[in-house]
Amino acid sequence: MEYLYADIIIDISHEAVDRVFQYRIPSFLRARIQIGQQVRIPFGRGDRERLGYVVALRQEADYDVRKLKEITAIEEHGVPIESELIRLAYWMKNQYGSTIYHALRTVLPVKARVSGTENKTIRLLLSREEAEKQLAGYPASHVGKIRLMRELLDSPELSYRLVVGKLNVSASTIQSLAKSGAVDILSRPVSRDPVKGMDVRRDGQTELNRDQKAIAEEFREHQRQGIAGTYLLYGVTGSGKTEVYMELIRQVIEQGKQAIVLIPEIALTYQTVKRFYQRFGNQVSILHSRMSGGERYDQYRRAKQGEISILIGPRSALFAPFSRLGLIVIDEEHEGTYKSENTPKYHARETAIERARMHGASVVLGSATPSLESYTKAKLGEYHLWKLPRRAVSRAALPDVHIADLREEMANGNRTMFSAKLRELIRDRLMKNQQVMLFINRRGYHNFVSCRSCGHVVKCPHCDVSMTIHNNGMLVCHYCGHRRPLPRRCPKCRSPHIAGFGVGTQKVVEAVQKEFPQARVLRMDMDTTRGKQGHETILQQFSNREADILVGTQMIVKGHDFSNVTLVGIIAADLSLHSSDYRSGERTFQLLTQAAGRAGRGTLPGDVVIQTYSPDHYSIVTAAKQDYEDFYEQEMTYRRILHYPPVYHMMVVLLTGEDEGKVIQAGDLLASRISRQDGATVIGPNEASVARVNDRYRRVIYVKALEYGQLTERKDCLEQYIEQEPRIRDVNVQFDFDPMSTY
Ligand code: ADP
Ligand code: ZN
Ligand code: ZN
Repeated sequence: MEYLYADIIIDISHEAVDRVFQYRIPSFLRARIQIGQQVRIPFGRGDRERLGYVVALRQEADYDVRKLKEITAIEEHGVPIESELIRLAYWMKNQYGSTIYHALRTVLPVKARVSGTENKTIRLLLSREEAEKQLAGYPASHVGKIRLMRELLDSPELSYRLVVGKLNVSASTIQSLAKSGAVDILSRPVSRDPVKGMDVRRDGQTELNRDQKAIAEEFREHQRQGIAGTYLLYGVTGSGKTEVYMELIRQVIEQGKQAIVLIPEIALTYQTVKRFYQRFGNQVSILHSRMSGGERYDQYRRAKQGEISILIGPRSALFAPFSRLGLIVIDEEHEGTYKSENTPKYHARETAIERARMHGASVVLGSATPSLESYTKAKLGEYHLWKLPRRAVSRAALPDVHIADLREEMANGNRTMFSAKLRELIRDRLMKNQQVMLFINRRGYHNFVSCRSCGHVVKCPHCDVSMTIHNNGMLVCHYCGHRRPLPRRCPKCRSPHIAGFGVGTQKVVEAVQKEFPQARVLRMDMDTTRGKQGHETILQQFSNREADILVGTQMIVKGHDFSNVTLVGIIAADLSLHSSDYRSGERTFQLLTQAAGRAGRGTLPGDVVIQTYSPDHYSIVTAAKQDYEDFYEQEMTYRRILHYPPVYHMMVVLLTGEDEGKVIQAGDLLASRISRQDGATVIGPNEASVARVNDRYRRVIYVKALEYGQLTERKDCLEQYIEQEPRIRDVNVQFDFDPMSTY
């Protein structure tokens, strides 16, 4: 297809990507022009030639064609990194549904330079004698001048901030000195060092064990043969995956290439970066959202200029401007945080694989509990599978896992939060001066309804997901819209103790203090970790053994390596089991396995207690056995029967708007446009689980199909239809593919 017009952006800062200019494509360029390309264009009144980037190609112009200028040429020399990122944005737009501008905002640089990032100094230009002579000649009333000159005689270069702030010298005084030639004002950009203050003790290379070595060798061989691919590193907790990442990165850097390391959340940055920093020194840097705009800009610039070789950060670090990208590592690849919540709702795993493909780079996905998506692909041979089945340190064995049935505890008259087993073991560890982690998953808080006597959870009769309580007291299924009133008695055992299920970290801490008044307790959750240093402080305290018990949400179960922790208690494993989400079984297995993996990582043996109302649920049974394969088979059976990902693909169409009538109408219009051919099913439109947010009504349509492409085809049709249908104009439509959360 030949396009006649192109949208071009000239300034690639975040704010400017919406400012596009349309140009005509001359016929001699039509066959070659592509999205992402750098082009020369006449610009502004004087038609000065400038460089721009093609962000969209069109068959029709939005403006009067006669007024459009023509592209002069395609810039052939060297592909700037921005071109590649623009092409990636275009792929994301097609893959996930979004405007090109939203996609560009996601991949393009952090905001333009933030002022105040410069390090301004005042420098003395006179010799010592000259300066003293001048100083003697100043009238006594020129206090500012005198103060500054005295200070400069002590140290000939001073920070501008210090002079104005501490010495109280006015800017005009400095200016007049500069004019007279006594001083000059220098400004150089400084790179704020985000790893400053970190323990920079360099770490020698660890001697890899046999399993790790085999992986490193195979990767080296693939590199030698020029094979780039996607690898799934499935290694049990503590098996030494991070050591493997570092070795592979070392190989890649040795070839003059660069690497990106993605971690699931900011909370884990500190300890990951520390390990990498100790190995690779200041070739390593960080990029994440809690850094200031200036800090991020600096790291972006350093990456672009090739000053750093390894960039570590959460999801968005994937768009680091590395032009010699050789490897992308995604640690804990199963984590839900790799899916963006904003449009385009991209998955970092798939996007990383696409970016790597564009660069001829490789991707390594690591996990102790691989996502069903990745493990399935590994089994099909699409990803190359590597296994680390043992803990790296031979003395460290996997912990003993005990399941405590909370129904029995209740029957035995135990109404506290701690089963007899957990209480006994906590007491034991306090006596031995060993440490304990208590884990509570707040996700699903007060979301589902369960019976305190028998553990029965109210589920949808059609979908096999738990039903969600809405504000009005109704129970609703998110997937099919089925609804029923909240029962007064348990439908199974007739007990009246049926209610929304929920406990928070605060409650657990209170219970600990009551039962074990001598224990020192720390709490780690969203509330206690606000701010840049929150996580680090708490983890540092716990690591220094300033506390006996750490109570926290899922953020305590990942990554941290505390050798003195010999007991992990999971207060209520069911919390994550019955969130109304087809991934809840998988998420529970992952959380339990990861939590259990925190115990006994040193030389001391560990125990894990899983408290639950559903001791027979396969997620809990297989997690207790630490048997991923068994879990995988059972979970896949469930997905197959109910047509869920990764067996089927799923597209969510979310409609939101202020006018409920219009949202309903738009939902009906869209649903009627979705083709039901080739085996695709359409469910809805239904109310979203939270049917109104900020006075905006929300409805959802689910579409399921065997092939991803069947869904993007339908998305394209809907996007076209939305553009030209006035009745949908006031309704916002978003797409989400293979969702990680519920709507
Ligand atoms: P994972 O990332 O799989 O959880 P880590 O890489 O953090 O595992 O390794 C777990 C522990 O084992 C760490 O303390 C690490 O230093 C140690 N370790 C890993 N590989 C080796 C090795 N080859 N020799 C000695 N210790 C190792
Ligand atoms: Zn019951
Ligand atoms: Zn249902």
